[in-house]
Amino acid sequence: MKKSFIFIVSLLLFVATLFYIFSIDKSPEQVGRTDKMLLETNKVRFLFKVEVLLQKGFLSYLFALQKNDETMLYDALDYLEAARGFLSTEYMNYDRLSRTIDPMIVEMVDTIETRGLAIGQEELLELFHVLNRIIKQCSIAEKNVWIEFQQDLVAFQATQARISNIYKLFAFVFAVLLVAALWLYLRQKNLTNLLHAKEKDLEKIAFFDTLTQIPNRTYIEKLLQRAIQIARREKGSFYIAIIDLDDFKKINDTYGHNTGDRVLVESIRRIESVLRPDDTIGRLGGDEFLIIFNGTLEPYDLKSILDRIEKVFEKPIHIDDIEYYSTVSIGISNFPHDAEDFSTLIKYADIAMYQAKSNGKNQYHLFDAELSAWLEEEYRLETEIRTAIANGEFRLFYQPKIDTESGKIIGCEALVRWMHPKKGLLSPADFIHVIEQGFMVREFGEWVISEAARQHALWRAIDPDLSMAVNLSVRHIVSHTFYDDMRQLVERLDIDLKHFIFEITEYELMSYKNRTIDTLRRLADEGWKFHLDDFGTGYSSITYLENLPIQAVKIDKSFVDKIMPENREKLLVDAIVDLAHALDITTIAEGVENEYQFRYLEKLGCKAIQGYYFSRPLEPEAFEKLIEESQPLHPITSMP
Ligand code: C2E
Ligand code: MG
Ligand code: MG
Repeated sequence: MKKSFIFIVSLLLFVATLFYIFSIDKSPEQVGRTDKMLLETNKVRFLFKVEVLLQKGFLSYLFALQKNDETMLYDALDYLEAARGFLSTEYMNYDRLSRTIDPMIVEMVDTIETRGLAIGQEELLELFHVLNRIIKQCSIAEKNVWIEFQQDLVAFQATQARISNIYKLFAFVFAVLLVAALWLYLRQKNLTNLLHAKEKDLEKIAFFDTLTQIPNRTYIEKLLQRAIQIARREKGSFYIAIIDLDDFKKINDTYGHNTGDRVLVESIRRIESVLRPDDTIGRLGGDEFLIIFNGTLEPYDLKSILDRIEKVFEKPIHIDDIEYYSTVSIGISNFPHDAEDFSTLIKYADIAMYQAKSNGKNQYHLFDAELSAWLEEEYRLETEIRTAIANGEFRLFYQPKIDTESGKIIGCEALVRWMHPKKGLLSPADFIHVIEQGFMVREFGEWVISEAARQHALWRAIDPDLSMAVNLSVRHIVSHTFYDDMRQLVERLDIDLKHFIFEITEYELMSYKNRTIDTLRRLADEGWKFHLDDFGTGYSSITYLENLPIQAVKIDKSFVDKIMPENREKLLVDAIVDLAHALDITTIAEGVENEYQFRYLEKLGCKAIQGYYFSRPLEPEAFEKLIEESQPLHPITSMP
């Protein structure tokens, strides 16, 4: 708005100036007169010279006569000739005047030349009159010249005044334009500065983590790439570290994100306090950070920095009067020793960090190639499993559960098998650990539940009381969306929760009890059934068992194996069954392989039995045949 206003005003001023310039009188006479005026002043000077020369010439002649000096006679003639000379200069271009004066001078010269020193009184007088006439004419001319000169001078001064006004106007317009330009320039500069500041802000947002104010993933990766380039050029080496806060998720889940954020910021501050000035730390995301130890670092120095990092976490972090204990796991890799390219270098540090975590956290680990090969294999398997789910290579087998008292099939456990296109039939032991530790744990778990539920619905038409058990990985349970996902799934599949059982291994549950119990309790309150699998391997205390939302324990095969005639350890099984019964928890024995075991468990009052003694896990068709046939089930004769 302001800018266009200034532009319009400047334009108007410019037009007005042009208009004024063109309106000034610049007629040819005016210009001619002004030019002439300079010429006239010169003419006056020359006329004066002519006058003087003529007088000098005449006087010299008089002296020559007086002293009878011929040399002076020639001087006189020289003066007169000089006077003529002046008359003929371009400045004396007074035609009329020259034409009258010149013949008179010529006459004088002639007279003097012819008469010389022998001149008579009359001729001399005559010469004197001639001289007077010339001088008189000169004076008149001078006078006219002066009058004209005065007139021209007035005109000249007027024009000059106008010109100076134009200059003033020009100067004024120029000044206005200059001020406007200056103002625009300053405004522009101000805007540019503002823009630069905004750009800086944007850069900050683009390259720095808003919470911790350290380089974000994009930027730290750029810095790492630069460090690699420099090291490559200078044939140097450097270490990088990936740091992950141990159990940070627990703080986040328990105390909320706000506290979690503050713990993160304080953790970064502590790490930074022990880094060298050249080292750079950036946030890769979540609670994971990358440090570039710029420049060559001796292993001993690296160790001392890492020790210091571990040490700064010994003291608790205080937030709002609460103490938070946080530790870190660190993985290290070296350029170019471990890897020469950016992504492998990061991957190896990551692998080393996971190794530090699985070794018990709160420690650092340097990358080693053997470990990497193992992990690569795991990774490959993970990809293969993902394709297998998509290709429908997984199948569920069903192992019957027998009621000890009646010998009837009361339910079954769904056990997964992988029909591998190349390797044939694979057992869970070959792949389940990869699933449980990988990203598809949820996807896979939901597939098992869906497939088992579909089968269960069909079989309940044959036996309405038949129960179906599926194995649930604790890694699936701890996922944030587990509760909602499961409720949706159950609703969608119309699962009969009264006859549908979820088995969770005791060991896993104990390892993740803080993060799972609440969810499981909520679901149990809504009628979900949970059985504690592989019971006896997880060392859960009796008090804990009492508080767990479970209906039954499945005594692990390793205990059932102890049931042999001469083995006193079988008393452990007695203890387990007694304990469970005291807590009103049902017992199921798994891995029952012979009659002795079966009878022993039957006598103990174990509710149900599962094992090769009755049946191996069966393909759906075989299991269906089994439940269609008459019951009770008889033990199979040929033992594996
Ligand atoms: P589990 O849930 O304790 O299942 C019982 C395992 O013991 C099954 O092995 C079964 O075949 C085996 N078994 C049953 N009776 C006998 C017996 O008399 N003798 C012997 N030697 N073994 C017997 P499987 O099918 O190889 O499964 C192993 C484990 O893999 C399961 O232990 C379970 O923890 C896991 N698993 C199986 N299917 C799934 C699944 O769909 N999802 C999840 N998350 N885990 C599964
Ligand atoms: Mg099981
Ligand atoms: Mg088991």
